[in-house]
Amino acid sequence: MKSKNDYQINDSRMSLSNESELKRMDYQIPTSNILGVDIHDVTMEETITILTDMATSGRSHHVMTVNPEFIMMAQQNNEFKTVMSKASLKVPDGVGVLLAARILGKSLKERVAGVDAVYELARISHQKKLRIFFLGAAPGVAERTASLLQLENPGLEIAGTYSGSPKVEEEDFICNLIEKSHPHILLVAYGPPKQDLWIARTRHRLNVPLAIGVGGTFDFIAGIAKRAPKWIQNIGFEWLYRLFREPWRWRRMLTLPQFALKVFLYKFRLSVSGKNH
Ligand code: UDP
Repeated sequence: MKSKNDYQINDSRMSLSNESELKRMDYQIPTSNILGVDIHDVTMEETITILTDMATSGRSHHVMTVNPEFIMMAQQNNEFKTVMSKASLKVPDGVGVLLAARILGKSLKERVAGVDAVYELARISHQKKLRIFFLGAAPGVAERTASLLQLENPGLEIAGTYSGSPKVEEEDFICNLIEKSHPHILLVAYGPPKQDLWIARTRHRLNVPLAIGVGGTFDFIAGIAKRAPKWIQNIGFEWLYRLFREPWRWRRMLTLPQFALKVFLYKFRLSVSGKNH
């Protein structure tokens, strides 16, 4: 993967960018199609390099952290599917996505978990003096997340924090708040699909180079939710640990077996029709 670091911050209105922007930035990132959704085959290290370039570019980027729930939502929600197809970068966040790739004979190198990416971004932002805005989660959680990241990275510039809601009625207020604070990076924690629909709706007026939908990441960093121990993450059972800690998620988690079934059916149909992909 090559990178060109010749992008400058442009304070004028930003143009939107999608995958073709990645090509302009000279990143030749292959994608793997899982049940109709193209996911970029990137490592965490590559992701952080790309995100840093995006954050210092003069264009607007939308990054999505894709897990099986996203792929299932895209099957049922056309608006969300279109938003996904237009996103600048879709990273594989979820062991289910990696397993599906393996079953379908596609390449996805490693899991790029949103929460790990946010820790890394905070570190890089501190070094490169990039300002982050934390939007979403329950009242006080974004603020606590920002303070804890600042404690780990003294001098990290926080552009702002706000809980708010993804409701259309709040949009003008939140957009003004963000625009006035001039962040390079906007982290939106409203959960899928709301957070990504919100970014897609507002990115043309935000003047922020990089917006990322980060789901429950603030809850983990702020200590509201507990992450699985490393060994459970490593054997791919973080989702089961989350179900154990947050049993009310069972209904949402039903999408996982449905996703697995769809992947196997797709694989079966391919082998019957004799196609490889
Ligand atoms: N959330 C919010 N407003 C909403 C819906 C959700 O602030 O209207 C927050 C919620 O508090 C949580 C995050 O969005 O911090 C979504 O987390 P979830 O666990 O649903 O996302 P996941 O990690 O499963 O993608």
